[in-house]
Amino acid sequence: MTKLLVATMAVALALTGCSTASRDDAAHGKPLVVTTFTVLADIAANVAGDRLAVESITKSGAEIHGYEPTPGDVRRAAGAALVVKNGLGLDAWFDRFTDDLHAPHVVASDGITPIPIASDAYAGKPNPHAWMSPLNVVVYADNLAAAFTRIDPAGAAVFRANAEAYKQRLRAVAHDLVDSLHALPANERALVTCEGAFSYLTRDAGLAERYIWPVNAEQQAVPRQVAATIDFVRTERVPAVFCESTVSDKAMRRVAAASGARFGGILYVDSLSRADGPVPTYLDLIRHDSRTIVAGLTGKAVQ
Ligand SMILES: [Zn+2]
Repeated sequence: MTKLLVATMAVALALTGCSTASRDDAAHGKPLVVTTFTVLADIAANVAGDRLAVESITKSGAEIHGYEPTPGDVRRAAGAALVVKNGLGLDAWFDRFTDDLHAPHVVASDGITPIPIASDAYAGKPNPHAWMSPLNVVVYADNLAAAFTRIDPAGAAVFRANAEAYKQRLRAVAHDLVDSLHALPANERALVTCEGAFSYLTRDAGLAERYIWPVNAEQQAVPRQVAATIDFVRTERVPAVFCESTVSDKAMRRVAAASGARFGGILYVDSLSRADGPVPTYLDLIRHDSRTIVAGLTGKAVQ
């Protein structure tokens, strides 16, 4: 009877997937770490290893810039040992809750050098998408290891070792990214996207950057922004344009139709895919985007 019960529970656990499993971890005494979005949860889980349970407040595919936390989110954060935020204005929607709850928190991007947003209402504010440079995520990993050590001092050596191993993989992905994008011919070295989320990536890879709107917000793709993007694509003869997974690609498809550029595909920035999708982890996200950009701009499929 007991054996059967254990076997049934094992099957049930195997079927429920990772977010339920991590809730189960938390229920079994692992300190709970909540992050504001899925990309940050994956980075944090790499540093935490199996000592901490890590969960994201927003689900995969969610719009994260203007997210409104639910009462359930706030309850989850209240029960957390640590809240991990990106900072740089990305997840300011969570500040008043963490302030009210006095939940311990860490800003993962602390210490990186922000790139200011170039245009429109956000001009001069830091571009929040610092994780789109894997070398910035090296800084995130160090910040997370230090924060995890504060809530679980006995795990200090494990967090340090996990962070070092992850940083090696980040540096390898950063190197491959720059390598593959550097190989593009001069007339294909421009990245045109819906949101201005690629400033860190285009800086690392030496590409020109152009976007329809600077930050996902209510006022997206106003006619003036669409017209300016069409102008740029025509003038620079950019072969392909792209859009991100968490927003509608309608405006960019208009840009493609009006300019004669290819629609090069969907890029991931603000969210991972689900576990069975194309980018279940942050490292997959960078590899997927770099392959999609090269394939789109050159018109050739890339392995
Ligand atoms: Zn974004």
